[in-house]
Amino acid sequence: MILRFWGVRGSLPTPADANDYRSKLRRVLAKAAETDVSTEEKREAFIDGLEGGLGKPYGGNTPCVEARVGDDIYIFDLGSGARALGGTLVGAPRRDGKLPLHIFMTHTHWDHIQGFPFFVPAYLPDVEMNFYSPHAHLKERFMGQQDFRFFPVSMNYMQSKKNFTRLDPEASFTVGDATISNTELKHPGKSYAFRMDADGASFVYASDSEYNGLDDETIERQVEFFKGADVLIFDAHYSREEERKRIDWGHSSGTVGVDIAVRADVKKLALFHHAPENDDFQIETLRDEAVAYLRDAHPDSALEIFPAREGDEFELMGG
Ligand SMILES: [Zn+2]
Ligand SMILES: [Zn+2]
Repeated sequence: MILRFWGVRGSLPTPADANDYRSKLRRVLAKAAETDVSTEEKREAFIDGLEGGLGKPYGGNTPCVEARVGDDIYIFDLGSGARALGGTLVGAPRRDGKLPLHIFMTHTHWDHIQGFPFFVPAYLPDVEMNFYSPHAHLKERFMGQQDFRFFPVSMNYMQSKKNFTRLDPEASFTVGDATISNTELKHPGKSYAFRMDADGASFVYASDSEYNGLDDETIERQVEFFKGADVLIFDAHYSREEERKRIDWGHSSGTVGVDIAVRADVKKLALFHHAPENDDFQIETLRDEAVAYLRDAHPDSALEIFPAREGDEFELMGG
């Protein structure tokens, strides 16, 4: 199973600005001053050696995650990251003349649907878009986004075939060779986590969720849902301190993610839904905060923690 991040930012698309660019240039030049970068080849190697956000930005697009099992394509949310994903699917091989896509929607807050009008495959007649969510009236919500008062092109102009399936909350079902389950998360208007199991591997996509004020039974249900996942994609919008202040805002932090991931025996924790106000260095500071908390609170844990980054791809092998 292949997992790829197309959008990892929360709330609002966040392009890097001039300050971000200059602060990176400063650090890169300071490093280059201590390195031999006199030839093209040495400069390439130097660039390849730059770590974290200095080598490759975490990205400014809102949530969109892709998974592939064999030829089957699964998409989780259609934030602005869906635009670039769509570009790669336009020429993708068809099966019996069709390109089926399976799209799972956690909820329909703006940052999770705003890429759909720019998702070119939606306009192609040989594409079949199968939408799934426990939320009611999913089709109407998408149509509302493309009402002419908000967007110039109506959904009626999108020539792809679209099927909308309302999932039972907490139910599991099979699509191709993957089993997909969902569970409810605490978020204004409700969000749902999806778990995908295939090829002996698994990941959980749990964006947009708060864990403050949940009763023990609910936490236990969620821990059971996350159990043993190879990757847990977790809402880490806030720092530990912000998360304690923003009760009922519907988001969480990396340190809460650490506690839950350790309890659920998760292997890797992907910090996700980065706040628009955080630049790449602040995202890494939050990663460091989560790692320090893990060492302190769970010193024996082998949990790996990393900030989700646009364009990063993982092969999940299971076992
Ligand atoms: Zn969101
Ligand atoms: Zn939301």
